Amino acid sequence: MRLSQMLFVTLREDPAEAEIPSHKLLVRAGYIRRIGSGIYAYLPMMWRVLQKVSQIVREEMNAAGAQETLLPQLQPSELWKESGRWDTYTQAEGIMFAFPDRQKREVALGPTHEEVITAVARDMIRSYRQLPVNLYQIQTKFRDEIRPRFGLMRGREFIMKDAYSFDLDEVGMKESYRKMHDAYHRILTRCGLEFRAVDADSGAIGGSGSQEFMVLAAAGEDEVLYTEDGQYAANVEKAVSLPPDAEPSPFEKFEKRDTPNTPTIESLAKFLNCSPTAIVKNVLYQVVYDNGKTVLVIVSIRGDQDVNEVKLQNELTKLAGQYGGKTIIALSVPSAEEQQKWAAKALPLGYMAPDLNDDYIKPLKDLEPKFLRLVDKTAVDLQLFVTGSNETDRHVVGANWGTQFKLPPLQVDVRKASAGDRAMHDPNQTLQTARGIEIGHIFQLGTKYSKAMGATFTSEQGEELPFVMGCYGIGVSRLAQSAVEQSYDKDGIVWPVAIAPYQAIVVIPNVNDTDQVSAANVIYTELSRAGVEVMLDDRDERAGVKFKDADLIGIPYRIVTGRSLQQGKVEVVRRATRESQEISIHEVVPTIKRWLEEAVKG
Ligand code: ATP
Ligand code: MG
Repeated sequence: MRLSQMLFVTLREDPAEAEIPSHKLLVRAGYIRRIGSGIYAYLPMMWRVLQKVSQIVREEMNAAGAQETLLPQLQPSELWKESGRWDTYTQAEGIMFAFPDRQKREVALGPTHEEVITAVARDMIRSYRQLPVNLYQIQTKFRDEIRPRFGLMRGREFIMKDAYSFDLDEVGMKESYRKMHDAYHRILTRCGLEFRAVDADSGAIGGSGSQEFMVLAAAGEDEVLYTEDGQYAANVEKAVSLPPDAEPSPFEKFEKRDTPNTPTIESLAKFLNCSPTAIVKNVLYQVVYDNGKTVLVIVSIRGDQDVNEVKLQNELTKLAGQYGGKTIIALSVPSAEEQQKWAAKALPLGYMAPDLNDDYIKPLKDLEPKFLRLVDKTAVDLQLFVTGSNETDRHVVGANWGTQFKLPPLQVDVRKASAGDRAMHDPNQTLQTARGIEIGHIFQLGTKYSKAMGATFTSEQGEELPFVMGCYGIGVSRLAQSAVEQSYDKDGIVWPVAIAPYQAIVVIPNVNDTDQVSAANVIYTELSRAGVEVMLDDRDERAGVKFKDADLIGIPYRIVTGRSLQQGKVEVVRRATRESQEISIHEVVPTIKRWLEEAVKG
């Protein structure tokens, strides 16, 4: 492609809206253009990158035995009501764009396709003989993200590859899952990314096991904890570990103490000269279930530990039935305004005890009149501990469960694992931390959707059984941007060769020099004929501008028809290393071909 004929616009300045390097670079280099919040135009070079990523995804999906399909983006609400996710997606998370059509029927723009695909399988797959089946599509998804940001990383409209497997039984599903796991490894490797597969929380999608594929980069929104032996890696939302041992409490008997101005664990430990591991802290949460019921929750946990809200949400979801609900609409530490709505009197914040009296809760409709009390495992075995007294500026020391405080019957693991903790599988290993960008997520769904939607097949024994399903997503547009986040320098993007929009760029330093122009034309034509994807910078611009642009857009190999033409030579430069050499014009095609082969094998 000739640059003089392309929509080719680069910017000198970083766009004001962009915070992270990949976003700035993609906008500056003319790959994407913002149209609205979380909405982007993929300009021609970006579209080429996205098609290359899609093609790698497609090849690996096909090789794993999955079949490509295309499902509707417009989805009727009935399907989502059958699966029980309409309320979660329209109200709780509120992530689905949903609206009535002209006939006043509710429809939504697909944020994901479990419902649609399960409906298709229910209609089309009747017998065990038709199983297993794995269907995938590459398509735009819509999600009304609360904080769209970082360009394509978190858009409200983005490209996803989603695949869904249907099996006879659990064993079959695990095999389908393994195939997808391996395919994801190959996809990310072929795209030239540095990544890690980690244990993950399954969130609103549901099901049993799941793993995320994380591209490692400082700008990642996720934290990954892993061990150096390579045996363990998990998203911090899901991670488990051994907490540090508690230090013995320095207090011998139970008493109440004045502890002025000690609302935080740090200030309290300092004041009492004890370890935070000798303290039980009591954290207040407020959960709203989908039936509108609000429950106030007190979590007692060891002072040095923090609550992992994803784990807490999972525990509270298990208890939903007890309060007449199915799912959670909101979980938060209640704000001052929220407290005012339900607190009968001022709460002793920072000084709460595990037994904070239920009379702090006003009798209100849709409000559970009693606190739900949970204790994290780290606090269960503590003895002679310090905790709140329910009076501001006072704590108790030397307390024991079973004596001064009743041990809550609900003992849970809701602590947040953190870097430096000992690993479960080998206490000699400590957890290390890294930032990651979630590129893919694979789930063992089981029968959650097939049961809810009555999607069954007839087994060999003649029984009607629900499909055992898996689902597998890759953020195609997020992946493309992550590649930039992992590979750039001060001058611009350094695309991995396999997904670069073009493989080579021929630069004519001076378009008024006919020798330069004709040599460039010959090289451009020969490279194109040899199957190299090549650009020709034939614009009437200064050489410096062209070199800057070529660096910015990150094309892997550059050929310059400059001064050495007199010796029948051109300069070839590798973008990633900036290695430059002069080679004869006839060597250009074989050299670039060889470099390409070396770069994209594996
Ligand atoms: P996240 O936790 O980042 O919101 P998710 O858990 O909602 O992701 P999935 O529902 O598993 O994501 O979707 C599959 C893949 O789609 C993700 O792994 C990610 O790569 C991509 N993805 C999800 N949401 C977005 C978005 N708003 N913009 C771009 N890509 C996205
Ligand atoms: Mg999400």
